[in-house]
Amino acid sequence: MELRFLGGAREVGRSAILVNDSLLLDYGVLTDTPPQYPVGDVEPDAVVASHGHLDHVGAIPSLLSGSSRPPIHWTPPTRELALTLARDTLKLHGRTLQCPFTENDVRRVTQVSETHGYRETFEAAGHEVTLFDAGHIPGSAHVLVDDGETRLFYTADFHTGDQRLVSGTTARPDADVVLCESTYSDVTHEDRAVVEERFVESVETTLWEGGTVVVPAFAIGRTQEMLLICDAYDIPCYVDGMGTDVTEMLRRHPEFVRDADALQRATSHARFVTGRDGQRKRIADQQTAIVTTSGMLSGGPAMTYVPAIRANPTNKVTMTGYQVQGTPGRELLETGSAEFDGRVLPVSARVEQYDFSAHADRSGILDVLNDYRDAEILVNHGDRCEAFAEELRAAGFDASAPALGDVRELSAHR
Ligand SMILES: [Zn+2]
Repeated sequence: MELRFLGGAREVGRSAILVNDSLLLDYGVLTDTPPQYPVGDVEPDAVVASHGHLDHVGAIPSLLSGSSRPPIHWTPPTRELALTLARDTLKLHGRTLQCPFTENDVRRVTQVSETHGYRETFEAAGHEVTLFDAGHIPGSAHVLVDDGETRLFYTADFHTGDQRLVSGTTARPDADVVLCESTYSDVTHEDRAVVEERFVESVETTLWEGGTVVVPAFAIGRTQEMLLICDAYDIPCYVDGMGTDVTEMLRRHPEFVRDADALQRATSHARFVTGRDGQRKRIADQQTAIVTTSGMLSGGPAMTYVPAIRANPTNKVTMTGYQVQGTPGRELLETGSAEFDGRVLPVSARVEQYDFSAHADRSGILDVLNDYRDAEILVNHGDRCEAFAEELRAAGFDASAPALGDVRELSAHR
């Protein structure tokens, strides 16, 4: 088996791996200005997408801009999320260099799409492929690829711990080679129940004092997780931004969430914001939590809510995920002020950070890899892939971290 690393190698973003020059695993975008895409020209015979995050599916429509019509294989939620993201990209950046595809390419995606459930083996570009629940977001998959000689287990993004929205992964299919994500290879997550308790106590205190809490959250996964928490603790909440559409969509795929009834209750509990900024400013005066995109304050209705609540120190902004360097969210955490629509504004409201990660931490990653002591381990999707590969070698693994553009010949050795 030959693997070609077109993106996501020793980096996070633009994940893309070409198997045997024919089967493409993921085709994502690295969010930056300008955005970065996988390297090289690629004309795959088929595509398999692991899950509906921008860094794994964001560039897929561009594969259909020519005459080729490769089938795209994924789970039903991944299909819907990829289309939602593509339409959002068109809306934000259509007809500019920031958008590598057209409306027509996005329409073609719906024509070549082939959806699969977990553990249903199918054929793609001459390979046997099986998707397994990866416990990251609804519909997220590990991808097992068998070319008749070598079995590759591409973990993609995964979590071993349970979230309210999805249960952690337990899948450990036999494999000769494991291509493993390493986002949090040097992090130990605080116990999820403890994070949740701290978050709830903080929000309840602010509401008790008469304040408002803005909860910036990624649209996919995190927004729904926060709604589930708000419902479980009876915290009054609004939900706004792209996360509202994603929440509605997930209700149509109950088999891909951990507890469909809980999501139903959480959806009824939250008040969905559909209005304009006038309505948003009124909501910002209420004693309530507001779950809203974007998770890193780089756009979305959060850009209305945070300025609206910023002057009152009783109010609070609770970040719910990792803040990438250079984003307004990171700036706000570090300096107490951030840029909103071109103006740098000081924020007197308290700003807090909570680790509601959807990725395995170091012990979670090692827990999975320990079941593959005889396999060859390739490390990708991280900021310290080489260091982690070295730590794995010291622990007796046959491990390495391919670089961008590398081509690897792999075999079912041993
Ligand atoms: Zn992801």
